[in-house]
Amino acid sequence: MSAPLLEIENLTKSFGGIHAVRQCTFSVPEGQVVGLIGPNGAGKSTVVDLVSGFGRPDSGSIRFAGQSLAGKRPDVISRLGLIRTFQTPREWRNLTVMDNVLLARRRFGSESLWRSMTRARRLRREEEPDRAAVRAILERFQLMDLRNEFAVRLSGGQKRLLEFARIAAAEPHLIILDEPMGGVNPVLGARIGEAVGQFAQEGRTVIVVEHNLPFIEKTCGQVVVMDLGEVIAQGPFSGLRDNPRVVEAYLGMDQSHG
Ligand code: ADP
Ligand code: MG
Repeated sequence: MSAPLLEIENLTKSFGGIHAVRQCTFSVPEGQVVGLIGPNGAGKSTVVDLVSGFGRPDSGSIRFAGQSLAGKRPDVISRLGLIRTFQTPREWRNLTVMDNVLLARRRFGSESLWRSMTRARRLRREEEPDRAAVRAILERFQLMDLRNEFAVRLSGGQKRLLEFARIAAAEPHLIILDEPMGGVNPVLGARIGEAVGQFAQEGRTVIVVEHNLPFIEKTCGQVVVMDLGEVIAQGPFSGLRDNPRVVEAYLGMDQSHG
């Protein structure tokens, strides 16, 4: 038995009087796809922020591949192999699709936008082998025809695909997706489901925050359920239906809203 890839213990975070995350404890074994679900405001995104260095916990610990992430910056964490997405896709707006993926591959997270852009231009001239790898990734996410388009001009769905292409380029150990199906049409939704499956087949560990429960049921071996900042259940999806705390947390929840 190897240690879990991610171990979260007693994680706590308040914003003023709001207890966004309270004594949150769960772990994610290497190679699994784990769902993180719960009603709006349950604290899911805050957990993702804390784990990825975008927020500082008030207390508690986070270990990734046996190493404490306490006090580490997001760019340092991403270079350790932990990549997260946001509910609203983030991309280098004024770089092309191709350069966006090149940058993800080169792991330039710590550099300023300006330096990254200059570096991207240099890469365009110098780094042919990497470009071949990036082309393969663009093919995989059906972005080849858009490779010279500025990211700012992509549709919402295309931005999601670009985000997945950037993940593939970075070759992370752990991927945390915050509502990847939010606002996407069914065709793209299926494509995103496939992409998550492919990441898992490549041996990557995935945490997926999602309101789309059929997707969670299909994709995730284990599910962690949060409500009001706390973990209220965890285990296989099939066991959740009969869990009174889970049923109660979901009563009256409108699943069409993210
Ligand atoms: P979820 O992702 O499960 O919908 P969040 O983690 O976004 O939940 O939010 C948990 C709670 O913390 C909510 O009540 C939310 O309003 C609050 N919250 C989240 N981020 C902030 C912030 N930066 N400042 C103040 N309150 C916040
Ligand atoms: Mg959220």
